[in-house]
Amino acid sequence: MTDAPGIRTTCAYCGVGCGVIVAPDGAGGFAVRGDPDHPANRGRLCSKGAALAETLGLEGRLLAPRIGGRDAVWDAALDLVAGRFGETIAEHGPDAVAFYVSGQLLTEDYYVANKLMKGFIGSANIDSNSRLCMASTVAGHRRAFGTDTVPGTYEDLEEADLVVLVGSNLAWCHPVLYQRLVAAKAARPALRVVTIDPRRTATCELADLHLAIAPGADVALFNRLLAAIADRGAVDEAYAVHLEGMDGAIAAARAETGGTGLPERDIAAFLDLWIGTEKVVTVFSQGVNQSSNGTDKVSAILNCHLATGRIGRPGMGPFSVTGQPNAMGGREVGGLSNMLACHLEIENPDHRHLLRTFWHAPAMPEKPGLKAVEMFRAVAHGRIKALWIIGTNPAATLPDADAVRDAIAGCDFVVVSDLFATTDTARLADVLLPAAGWGEKDGTVTNSDRTISRQRRFLPAPGLARPDWAILSEVGRRMGWPDAFDFASPVEILREHAALSGHAAARGRDFDISDLAALDEAAYDALAPLRWPVSARRTGGRFFADGGFFTPNGKAWMVPVVSRGPATATDDRYPFRLNTGRIRDQWHTMTRSGRAPRLGRHLGEPFLEIHPLDAVRLGIRPAHLVEVESREGRAILRALVTDRVRPGEVFAPMHWTAEHAPAGRVGALVAPVTDPISGQPESKAGAVVLRPYRVA
Ligand code: SF4
Repeated sequence: MTDAPGIRTTCAYCGVGCGVIVAPDGAGGFAVRGDPDHPANRGRLCSKGAALAETLGLEGRLLAPRIGGRDAVWDAALDLVAGRFGETIAEHGPDAVAFYVSGQLLTEDYYVANKLMKGFIGSANIDSNSRLCMASTVAGHRRAFGTDTVPGTYEDLEEADLVVLVGSNLAWCHPVLYQRLVAAKAARPALRVVTIDPRRTATCELADLHLAIAPGADVALFNRLLAAIADRGAVDEAYAVHLEGMDGAIAAARAETGGTGLPERDIAAFLDLWIGTEKVVTVFSQGVNQSSNGTDKVSAILNCHLATGRIGRPGMGPFSVTGQPNAMGGREVGGLSNMLACHLEIENPDHRHLLRTFWHAPAMPEKPGLKAVEMFRAVAHGRIKALWIIGTNPAATLPDADAVRDAIAGCDFVVVSDLFATTDTARLADVLLPAAGWGEKDGTVTNSDRTISRQRRFLPAPGLARPDWAILSEVGRRMGWPDAFDFASPVEILREHAALSGHAAARGRDFDISDLAALDEAAYDALAPLRWPVSARRTGGRFFADGGFFTPNGKAWMVPVVSRGPATATDDRYPFRLNTGRIRDQWHTMTRSGRAPRLGRHLGEPFLEIHPLDAVRLGIRPAHLVEVESREGRAILRALVTDRVRPGEVFAPMHWTAEHAPAGRVGALVAPVTDPISGQPESKAGAVVLRPYRVA
């Protein structure tokens, strides 16, 4: 490892999980540079990572607990939270309370939150903003592989001869992985890149072929591919012994009638390229996941890789990239309402028994809890009476955000743990708890290719702020479970998590980090990035090259899927298809990235991409304001007239909130429509009407 001065930690933003080195800059601040030894980035950084040091100021930080808007001491706040949650459970049952947490949390934070809700409160009502990020991938993985397993690694993108990017603006949303792909293509021009995206994004600059597919048509395209694989004799018959359901999946693919919006010659070129290239990686992200048929889209992609045996070998496989820095760690600890820790299954009595015994838990839910959109609907209807929101901003980011904001405002008891008191959600809290942020606490995160990295503390927590795991443990103790939440440091939590993973792996689960169960403080401090599994059974690398899936019979399931269009209909009143997403230099609701002036220079205000033909027809002039209205809400955005979007479709970024631009809350426009299996909202295919905005 390079002998570099400074603290090695992990970037606070996306799921690439880049290593950074933080050192004093000699002027009283810090300098951040890429860690040359981290396997995710090997020294590279993107604009957001490079600006991390600019986001460390204490301006606006929440420095003490607040009860009813007034500063309070920790004892009073913790007693109030524990007391009100305990009273609510006693009066209305455990399902009357809920936690809504975040893929920004460290694994140790997440583990304690999940343990408290599922094992001790006895409800599965803990869900995460990761529901908005990759829940469809989780569901697709589980029904194909038996577990939520990412088969491949980042190296596969570099070793492939064809990389297909589906619904992924990698250049802006996972920039360092994109940089690696650019470098691989420069070194090996034979590497081909295909992008499948209704928009001509920055990523398309690298593409040999861009398929501007109709919104929601991915299943139709990948069913065409699967049918062609079968018709051309490209099925890997030797690998097929590891599969179930192939005949049904191929029959469904052959019966596919859904349109793609693509010219036949482009489809033919794609089919020829995919089928004719053995080393192919299909990368997918939010354009696949954030859909009312996201799980089926994932299955359609997995089916093609399974049928051809192109999975788990160097340069081959389906590969989902996660949005958040610890979306993957949250999946590992069971931080979604339909999962248990260590990829154990909530519906499986043996798994529940294992977890209950291991935790010495008084309770264990027997059915899944509420998924994010359902959870806030239950809040609105008064079924959730005590709600704890940790490190996330649902009043701005969930679909139908105005209704979510009103639901939180009307909830009997709302606790928010955050860095700032000014987010749209924090303003609604009865109790505000000051949380330690990036650089102020220790823990681990897992990136998109299963690499576990340390986040390390290099700053004292300001004021009275505490790490989330410590706040949650205190509440657990005060609710009556002192032994179960007697954690004094994050390494104690990781050790427990690792020991549990060994038991889960012994029952056929994939997630196994049991080698970390004996880590002492010094080894935890020194922990270098490592890819799970990390155990005597198996170490790092890829899954499934030789079969060996985590289903009861060890075979993967190819699930027959049929295409369905977006659930939200366009019509004469709402004729435009609204796509939402990220921009290059901002992160989520800008609570951190919005503090770095240079990041604001890229795109500094909420905007709407609209095609020139539509702009002319509606009298919308470049850089003028547009009123955007859906069935759920309304926003005022700046017109960005561009042929990067197709006629009839518009795109708006999701970052701005009431804190920064009250009229620019795009979450207010998104319908609360979800995938019936994954519960992930359809954030990329709304229906809106546009008008030039005129000040009354
Ligand atoms: Fe951070 Fe992601 Fe950029 Fe890497 S690519 S520096 S993890 S934001």
